[in-house]
This record gives sequence, structure tokens and C-alpha cells, in this order.
Amino acid sequence: MIVTVRFAPSPTGYLHIGNLRTALFNWLFAKAEGGQFVLRYDDTDRERSRQEYADAIREDLAWIGIQPDAVLRQSDRIALYDAAAERLKAAGLLYPCYETTDELDRRRKRAAARNLPPVYGREALRLTAEEKAALETEGRRPHWRFLLPNFDDDPFKTRRTEVAWTDLVRGEQVVDLASLSDPVLVREDGSVLYTFCSVVDDGDSGITHVIRGDDHVTNTGVQMAIFQALGIPAPAFGHHNLLTTLSGEGLSKRSGALSLRSLREDGYEAMAVASLATLVGLPGSVDAMADLESLGARVDLTKISPSASKFDPAELDRLNAELVHAKPYGAVAEALAALDVPEPKAEAFWLAVRGNCERVGEAALWRDVVFGAPASAAELSEEDRAFVNAAFDLLPDDPWDGTTWKRWTDAAKAASGRKGRALFMPLRLALTGLDHGPEMGALLPLMGRERVISRRP
Ligand code: GLU
Repeated sequence: MIVTVRFAPSPTGYLHIGNLRTALFNWLFAKAEGGQFVLRYDDTDRERSRQEYADAIREDLAWIGIQPDAVLRQSDRIALYDAAAERLKAAGLLYPCYETTDELDRRRKRAAARNLPPVYGREALRLTAEEKAALETEGRRPHWRFLLPNFDDDPFKTRRTEVAWTDLVRGEQVVDLASLSDPVLVREDGSVLYTFCSVVDDGDSGITHVIRGDDHVTNTGVQMAIFQALGIPAPAFGHHNLLTTLSGEGLSKRSGALSLRSLREDGYEAMAVASLATLVGLPGSVDAMADLESLGARVDLTKISPSASKFDPAELDRLNAELVHAKPYGAVAEALAALDVPEPKAEAFWLAVRGNCERVGEAALWRDVVFGAPASAAELSEEDRAFVNAAFDLLPDDPWDGTTWKRWTDAAKAASGRKGRALFMPLRLALTGLDHGPEMGALLPLMGRERVISRRP
């Protein structure tokens, strides 16, 4: 058996970090098992699905390092679903219903008033051929419901019917099919619903493991019944917890919040995003992993927390900073060239400033300090200004190197009697316009004598 998983987003918006959680649990699982990862676009909702989102999903996954082994789209596969639906109809397991949404609403309200569960009562099963014909003459078109196998002989006498599976994440799970309405699988206009196509596709693609959010647990009970009705062996299922915002709201593709796209545009590292999307809700600390392989080694599906995990943007900043601080020059050479950092000094520059950057793009601030003009001018007291001016007279001659700052400040110390912060801070302020930043010993030779002299207050 070749382990085959699928990630099945609807192309109705940009992937967010919660979608990435699902994608990565699948991808890492497949890679650990030497298996295959299928990207499937669940695009049967023609109104809301867009090609631009489908393209963006591919791009965003590629940014993270996920390359699908196969790509499918449900809208290409309608004939397959139609054929499967015909088989269920022929077996009497898919039956026509004519209720309007209003009628169903009224029925649900009546049931609620009598403290009954809002479960469809299979009223359409009682319709005679004449009644159906009359409804069709009236212009009504049927939608089609799947007859859940939750009864012995009489579909109006349901009994507790447990569908059970050992979930890859949650352990033993049970769904009682008698607590559910027969799901609609085909709409009035003949279009098929996700619940159904997903089963047909999983069967057709040889999916061995379905790993998805725990909002699908009940669906799994229904879908296992559909697998059985179609004579397809059901895959193994795993349902991981969902990510919410800090205030506990669900993430939505439609809002665009925390989309991979916006995080990438904001300069976050793919591995910071991937690490957080995966490790939150798992035991141990949430660390910035260097690559997907080491991230995979940290994942144990059985250890995922059963309750929702909160996404904290501050955590993302922390992880990003960890990665950026450790980034070798080779990994940023291109980005620095795009920021017009002068090539011969780019490596020394990066090694000097990376510890002060949470994102690579922040190197632009230090580029200005070192090679251009600092954003802010130094604000010095009269006394400090006099001290700095006197110190400038003591600047060592060229050539400058990693020892120059020490030699200079030693001389300034001896001349002024200043030490510690009183000695260093006015000089740092004069040279950089800032009261914090990289080691001055590293910055000074990068700036060079001429530029330093131009900053004399
Ligand atoms: N399109 C479905 C969703 O995004 C897929 C669920 C599944 O993995 O079966 O929720």
C-alpha cells in the first residue's frame, strides 16, 4: 500500500495559517511514510471558486516547500460523481426530495417547539409516484438525499447506529447515524455536494489517510456510510484541532486574515509560519525549525491537543527573529542585493546586523545607517555634543578594522574620563541616530572613516 493523502481546499480565498496546519499534517505524514500528497481543489461551488485562488494556493504551498505529487479539481470530475449518484439511486439509497428551504425551516421550528432533535423525518420517502409527478408538474425539481443506514427494515424506525473508527489523532470515535439527517448529496440543479464528491474522489485517488480539521468528525460518520454504500474501502481518518485567533474566533479564508499571502508579503519566513502552524497544540515548546524535515520529526498526530489552539502573532515574530538571527549570508544574498546593500561589504554587513533584525527586510534600516543616511538625527545634550566633537578629533587613521572602535573609544575615554554608557551612547547616537543596534565595533569599519566624519554633530 502506498500511503496517499490529500489536501482539499476550496479555491474560495487565500490559504490561512489554519489551512496550512492541515496541509502540513498531511504533507509531513506522507513524507514520513514515503507516500504521495495529492492537492485536490474542492471547487464544486462554481459561484465562489476562482482560478486566481487556485493558483494562489499552489504558490503559497510552494513557498512553504510543499510540492504536490498530483493535482485534481472536482469540477473536472463531474461525470464520475454523476455515475456514482446513479448507482446509489439504482440501489434506492439516494432518494428525491421536494421540500423548499422554507418548508424545512418550518418543520425544524415545529420539532424544536416539541423538544425534538432537528433531524429530517424522511417525509419525501412517503411520496407516491403520483405525488412526485404532481410536484414536478408544478415545476418543482428534486434534490437528493442519501438514506443513512440507521434502521433495520423500516426507515421511519431509526435505531442507534454507531459508526466507529480509530482516529489517527483522537483515538476511538463514534458517530451515531440515528442522530443525523439524511444528507443532501445532489442539489435541485443537479450539482453534487462536497460530502459526496469527496468520498468518490478519495476512493478514485486511492487515498489511504484523510487528515483534516475536527470540524469534520460528524461528516466522517456520514462519509463512512457512503463509502460502504459505494463498496469502497474507507481510508483511515485523523481529525486535528483547529486554530483560532487569540480571542477564540475561527479563521476564515474569506476574511483574508492571517493568509499565507499576507504573511509572506509582510516578510515572514516560510519556516516560521510552518513551525507555528504545526507545533502549536503539540507537546513541547514551539520552536522555529530550520526545515520541513526537522519539523516532521516533532509531529506526533496522537499528541495533538483535543481543544482548539490559539494563534498568537507575537509567537510568529519570536520564531521569525530566531530564524533571521541565525540566517547565513548565502540565504539572504539576493534579498540584500535587492535592498541595494553594496556587494563587497554585504556579508560582513549581514553578520553585523542580523541579530537586530526580526525580518530580513529590516536590514534596510541598517543599510541606511551604514551606507546612507540614518532616518533620525542624533539628539544630543550640549555636554554630549561637546564630548562627541572632541572624540571625533581622536578618530584613528585608516585602515579601519574590527579593532578600530575599541581603539577610538579607549582614546576618548582617556581624554574625557567618561566610561560605560556615558562614553558609548553619545557616540552610538551620533553615528547611527539610534540608541540601540548592532555592535559598533562591527558597524564602524563598514561605515568607513569618511561617512563617520560626515556624522559629526
Ligand atoms: N474542502 C473541504 C474543506 O476545506 C475538505 C475537507 C476534507 O478534507 O475532506 O473543509
